Amino acid sequence: MKAVRLVQPGRPLEMHDVPLPRPGPQEVRVRVKAAGICHSDAHYRTGRSPVNPLPLTLGHEVAGMVDDIGGEVSNFKCGDRVCVHYLATCGVCEYCGNGNEQFCRSAQMMGKHRDGGYAEYVMMPATSLLLLPDQIPFAHGAILMCSAATSLHALRKARLERGESVAVFGVGGLGSSAVQLARALGAGEIFAVDIQATKLELAREFGARPINATECDPVAEIKRLTDGRGVSVALELIGLPVTMQQAVQCLGIHGRAALAGITDEGFEVFPYTELINKEAEIIGVSDHLANELPDLLNFVLERHLDLTSLVTRRLALDAEQVNSALDRLEHFGDEIRTVIEP
Ligand SMILES: [Zn+2]
Ligand SMILES: [Zn+2]
Repeated sequence: MKAVRLVQPGRPLEMHDVPLPRPGPQEVRVRVKAAGICHSDAHYRTGRSPVNPLPLTLGHEVAGMVDDIGGEVSNFKCGDRVCVHYLATCGVCEYCGNGNEQFCRSAQMMGKHRDGGYAEYVMMPATSLLLLPDQIPFAHGAILMCSAATSLHALRKARLERGESVAVFGVGGLGSSAVQLARALGAGEIFAVDIQATKLELAREFGARPINATECDPVAEIKRLTDGRGVSVALELIGLPVTMQQAVQCLGIHGRAALAGITDEGFEVFPYTELINKEAEIIGVSDHLANELPDLLNFVLERHLDLTSLVTRRLALDAEQVNSALDRLEHFGDEIRTVIEP
C-alpha cells in the first residue's frame, strides 16, 4: 500500500510502498477515507517533537471503513464506518484505571509511535475505534479526533460554567471548534483573538466577538469589553509565549487559563498581580480522553458543532502535496484544516 512517511526529521516526508498490515487478534485494519493534517505533524517533521521508530507513517486524525478484523474482535465488522482514537493504551495501568489514559505508561500514538493515517490503510486495536454515524462525513470524523477533541478537553480542564465569559486565542482548527463548543456548553460572551481576518470572520459567524491582534492589544480590548473585569476562561491554542501571556493577563477574578498550544519557550508571569490577587489559575491541557469522543459526535449530530467550514482544503495521498500543506502550517497560513482523502 502507499504511505507518506517521515524518514528523517528535518527532511520532507516521502511516499513509500509498504506491506499491507495484517491485524492481530484484537486489531482492526481500516481503509483510510480521510486523514487530517495537524500542526503537530509539522512539529514531527522538523524534529521539534520526537517520533520513533523511524521511518514512520504520520497522521493521527483518521476516519475510514473497517477492512479486516482480528479473530477476537466482535464489536466491529467489515464495512463499518469508523473514526479512530489516536491512542493505543494498555487498559490496565494506574492511568488507564483512573480515567486518565492519555498518560498510560505504554500508550502508543498513531502517527507518532506507530504507523498513522497518511496511508491507504491504518491498523489499530479495536478498543481505539468508534462507530461514525452515517450523517457525519469521513473528513469531519477525522478532524473530530484531534483538534475538536483537544478543544473540548481544554474547556473541561478549564471547568467552564454556564454563563462564564471565554477568550479563545487562535481560531484555526482547534479554536473554531472551541468557540462552537463553548457556546454549546452555555458560555456567556466569547472573544476570538487571531491575526487572520478570515478566521476571525468565521469565529464571528459562530457567535464570537472577533478581536484582531494586529489592530489592538487583545488584553486591553478584552478588559475594555468586559468593563475591566477580564474573562473567566482563556484558552491558548496557538503555542506562542506571547499569546500564553495574554491568556493569563486577560483573566478576571478566579479566572482559568488553559494552555493547549505547544511551545518549548517560556513566558513571564507576575504572580502577585496576575495570579495571587485574583486566585487565577494556569492549567496545562494534554490531549483528550477517549470518553470525550462520543460526546463530540453528539455535538455534531445535534448541530452544535459544524465542521463544514473547517475543512478548507482536500488533498490526494501525495508526498509533495502533504509537504506543502505542512509548509503552510509552519507559516500559520489562513487555512483551517487540510484533509487527505486517499
Ligand atoms: Zn492533531
Ligand atoms: Zn495504560
